[in-house]
Amino acid sequence: MDGIVHPFGKKKHDRVEIDPITCLGCGYCSIFCVMHCIHQREDGLYEIDQEACIGCRSCRVNCYFDAVRVTPPER
Ligand code: SF4
Ligand code: SF4
Repeated sequence: MDGIVHPFGKKKHDRVEIDPITCLGCGYCSIFCVMHCIHQREDGLYEIDQEACIGCRSCRVNCYFDAVRVTPPER
């Protein structure tokens, strides 16, 4: 998603990322992502589109392998 304007300059919600080492590639998180912003790459790994993610943590809750990391927004 190019061209998105962030009027306050920063993302205000948690940053959510998938650890490529821990992730087993089951795709379960992607099924339940409310924003449909978890995509499988050509190499099979899953990654989150940070521009579309709203930080709801659904993916973290639905990952049985504790592969989703949540960190506070950068200041
Ligand atoms: S649910 Fe967890 S292990 Fe499965 S693809 Fe998502 S992050 Fe990876
Ligand atoms: S935090 Fe929510 S919106 Fe962001 S990737 Fe996870 S399920 Fe999708």
